[in-house]
Amino acid sequence: MNIDEQLWDLIVIGGGINGAGIAADAASRGLKVLLCEKNDLASATSSNSSKLIHGGLRYLEHYEFKLVRKALKEREVLLENAPHIMWPLRFYLPHRPHLRPAWMIRIGLFLYDHLSQRKRLAGSKFVHFGADSPLKPFFKKGFEYSDGWVDDSRLVVLNAQQAHIHGAEILPRHKCIKARHDGQHWFVELENQIKQSLRCVKSKVVVNAAGPWVEDLFIESFDKKPPRKIRLVKGSHIVVPKLHDQSQAYILQNQDKRIVFVLPFEDDFSLIGTTDVDYQGDPGDVEIEQSEIDYLIKISNEHFIHQISEQDIVHCFSGVRPLMDDESDDAQSVTRDYTLHLEDSVNMPPLLSVFGGKITTYRKLAEAAVDKIAGFFGQIKPCQTRALPLPGGNFSDPKTLLETLQSEYPWLPAVILKRYVRSYGQLSRQILAGCQSIDDMGIAFNPVLYQVEVDYLIEHEWVSCAEDLLWRRTKTGLLLNAGEVVYLRGYVLQKLINKQYY
Ligand SMILES: Cc1cc2nc3c(=O)[nH]c(=O)nc-3n(C[C@H](O)[C@H](O)[C@H](O)COP(=O)(O)OP(=O)(O)OC[C@H]3O[C@@H](n4cnc5c(N)ncnc54)[C@H](O)[C@@H]3O)c2cc1C
Repeated sequence: MNIDEQLWDLIVIGGGINGAGIAADAASRGLKVLLCEKNDLASATSSNSSKLIHGGLRYLEHYEFKLVRKALKEREVLLENAPHIMWPLRFYLPHRPHLRPAWMIRIGLFLYDHLSQRKRLAGSKFVHFGADSPLKPFFKKGFEYSDGWVDDSRLVVLNAQQAHIHGAEILPRHKCIKARHDGQHWFVELENQIKQSLRCVKSKVVVNAAGPWVEDLFIESFDKKPPRKIRLVKGSHIVVPKLHDQSQAYILQNQDKRIVFVLPFEDDFSLIGTTDVDYQGDPGDVEIEQSEIDYLIKISNEHFIHQISEQDIVHCFSGVRPLMDDESDDAQSVTRDYTLHLEDSVNMPPLLSVFGGKITTYRKLAEAAVDKIAGFFGQIKPCQTRALPLPGGNFSDPKTLLETLQSEYPWLPAVILKRYVRSYGQLSRQILAGCQSIDDMGIAFNPVLYQVEVDYLIEHEWVSCAEDLLWRRTKTGLLLNAGEVVYLRGYVLQKLINKQYY
């Protein structure tokens, strides 16, 4: 097999949030970066999270103060850099004195408010649930506090775009099948998962950011024993028509000491999750079990007046947390922090591996990862990402941006414009370039999905099938009917054939 001429500084294996974040950090410091992902960007854990940029109130019970502080700090950084895909969310915590006493929650919330400085997020307070509460009348009081919501899969794609803007090559649907070295450089064999063709790329350093596959990659591609162990913990969510009209989320306490979120989702839905179940199989095969569906429905029905059943579920998804194995007894107690393992010796080029992590702390993880390997590249810039808006995120107030775009495109239905602002921010203008009326937007696959957006996503966001677009670049999968999906699939396929992608 021919080996590419180009010598990369860094090859990142894995296009989840950690791989994409590391690629963005490294490329913005001037390194030559290639990222490969065997499937779609964010196709594994990083699109199946609860989508919270949160300190993790519950981790305080496990004395994870350092992790909570780090995560709380990141909420403010991400709100600055990605105001389109991330926003503050208020949470109601109904009080159940037999599960956690009020004094304990008050102390927890005090710490949550004060462990890190807050600029954009309001503090916590005690609340009485009035007659308009969607909760059962039994729940009379509780607490209210702030955290952040993020579109997890778009966060990954925007980090990949950030890396690309800074010169990185991004290769979704390229699986690393072998990695060997000659003592100086890595030679990484990539298999194009669509054309089945092979390509060999070389670099000075490799990062293993394969998430739940981090150990498998060591064994199968590097022919090495993994230096650490991870514990796979499955979590599932269900999506139902919205349970209430409030903008707040709910955090529900369960008898088993776990907590479950009920989150406002895509205007018309509620997202309910998550479970915590040890998982043994292939992370790619993960799916929700009946017992998890029953568990989530039960806890929702215990709290809300509006009762749901399995028939109300419009969508569900599951993911596997690749947690560092700290030998905790139960899955929910395993640490959510991360470790970076660097292997370098005189006879081997550096190999950095990521174990664990959270969406919330991905930027800090990426900064620490690149700091750890910076010495191998001579003089490189310090981390740039702290004050570097993600693509489309160079504005401060979504409401003002929405109003500005409304005046620029008065003919565009509000529901589409709102979704564009929340997905693409300032880049909405790039999608709408040249459009002066709705007729200029091309084919209407559905009243909210037009050809200009589909073309943009194929051209600029590495969409390689309709599912990438329906579930990860957008959540329009919740809105299109079966016929519309078939039509979209045909269009995307033809477009990619024309581009000789297939
Ligand atoms: C149910 C659930 C809820 C969660 N909720 C939250 C939350 O609310 N907030 C939060 O901060 N965190 C949350 N998390 C944690 C967070 O989602 C994960 O920590 C994070 O997504 C892990 O990212 P990753 O990049 O390490 O892994 P992944 O996203 O899984 O990415 C790894 C990638 O590597 C690719 N890959 C594997 N092998 C190869 C190969 N040989 N070649 C090329 N590519 C390869 C895979 O296809 C995959 O896309 C949650 C996790 C779960 C499961």
